[in-house]
Amino acid sequence: MRRLRNVKIVATLGPASETYEMIRALHEAGADVFRLNMSHGSHDEIREKHRIIRQIEKELENPIAILADLQGPKLRVGVFAKDSEELENGATFRMDLDESAGDATRVCLPHPEIFAALEVGKTLLVNDGKIRLRVETCGTDFADCVVVNGGTISNRKGVNVPDVVLPLAALSEKDLDDLEFACGLGIDWLALSFVQRPEDVHQARKLVQGRAAVLSKIEKPSAVEGFDAILEASDGIMVARGDLGVELPVSAVPPIQKRLIRKCRKAAKPVIVATQMLESMIESPMPTRAEVSDVAMAIYEGADAVMLSAESAAGAFPVQAVETMNSVAIEVEQDPTYTQIMEASRQVDRASVADAIVSAAREIAETTPIKAICCFTESGTTALLTARERPRVPIIAMTSLRGTARRLALSWGIKCVIVIEVSRFKSAVVGAARAATTLGYADQQDQIVVTAGLPFNVPGTTNILRVAPCDERLIYNMEKE
Ligand code: ATP
Ligand code: MG
Ligand code: MG
Repeated sequence: MRRLRNVKIVATLGPASETYEMIRALHEAGADVFRLNMSHGSHDEIREKHRIIRQIEKELENPIAILADLQGPKLRVGVFAKDSEELENGATFRMDLDESAGDATRVCLPHPEIFAALEVGKTLLVNDGKIRLRVETCGTDFADCVVVNGGTISNRKGVNVPDVVLPLAALSEKDLDDLEFACGLGIDWLALSFVQRPEDVHQARKLVQGRAAVLSKIEKPSAVEGFDAILEASDGIMVARGDLGVELPVSAVPPIQKRLIRKCRKAAKPVIVATQMLESMIESPMPTRAEVSDVAMAIYEGADAVMLSAESAAGAFPVQAVETMNSVAIEVEQDPTYTQIMEASRQVDRASVADAIVSAAREIAETTPIKAICCFTESGTTALLTARERPRVPIIAMTSLRGTARRLALSWGIKCVIVIEVSRFKSAVVGAARAATTLGYADQQDQIVVTAGLPFNVPGTTNILRVAPCDERLIYNMEKE
């Protein structure tokens, strides 16, 4: 399956997208990565979605990344008897520890530590800040609030208390359980919510034991302040704008998004822009102009991936939402301004032979009509370094490791092909040429760039570059000379 864009699309799966037909339709419409949010849904439901994704991956022979997102120390309300209620401005609403279903006057907030820390006058924000409550009276097991900004409140919506410091561990009991479950299933990325320090990432990585790459969600002011060390500790980043825009003024989010994207690209680590990208498409088949512009801007800024949350998990138009992102991406990437921005914003401290090789590959793509850069990679590093260059031609990552192929599905411009281990450069070139032509990236008379590390099967970095014709006969003849 060949995509006509470089930026990747992450789609969250939920009740609106749990069948084989729907997940396959989302993948065919453009979803490269599926996000399983451990906050919602039972392990059985998650196992079933995982099984369906792997089945589709096998049928279409296209590596798909599965990203499991841990809830982290997120506060959530319980459930409502009628699933949702309308809160009117000025009404009173109680949060308490009573586990029975909520109604228009109260709901459970199953976190005694909040009530211990709350004070009169403090603010509670619900559902990424859409609903605002002010505490009028509170005790050890309840808070009576006045509704400052009303709206629809529904089952298990998140709650933020921005002006109160809560003593919460980075990984809860539930997170530890979910982490083990997800890694046992076989996931490619594990996302950590509310990361505050690099130690949080180290702790999770120890438990993951190499079974997945680790991605940090940036949604706390402390994570923004200490971002460089968190990036260093992580394999990838998500700009989690929902909670970030509640923990900080919303107006602070766009500059942070821009800065984080630039830093991730410099570090050659994938970055996802997430939350409310096409929010109105939860209910409408048509996005707003502002939403389309938001997706486009994230792409112009150089994000590796854009993400759908409730739009694909719980909305009425999941496939249309993916199609919208796909067509916005194609449009942006055809714009010469996009190419100029990508090329002008490249920042690399050239340090290694591999850096020099990928840079040469990108320059060849700028000055000659080669059709693709095929890189042989085991850990995926060379493919990531190539993606950082943002070359003008597609990047085909050739790897014998399924895990590497799946993980790279999140990164800008990388198409992965799983190959049997090669031992000689000649067969590598033939394999690359065949992949480029069968995938439709090049014709027989075209040329491609092939990069690899010699000798093969010795851990080390890329040290060879060859411009090769796609015609196999020519390759064989050249090898004989
Ligand atoms: P996070 O802070 O991790 O993003 P979230 O609660 O905002 O958590 P999202 O995955 O961003 O969750 O999805 C947005 C909304 O879509 C949720 O609040 C929920 O209403 C709905 N949703 C998502 N996934 C599911 C699911 N598996 N089951 C039920 N509802 C879901
Ligand atoms: Mg969040
Ligand atoms: Mg969200």
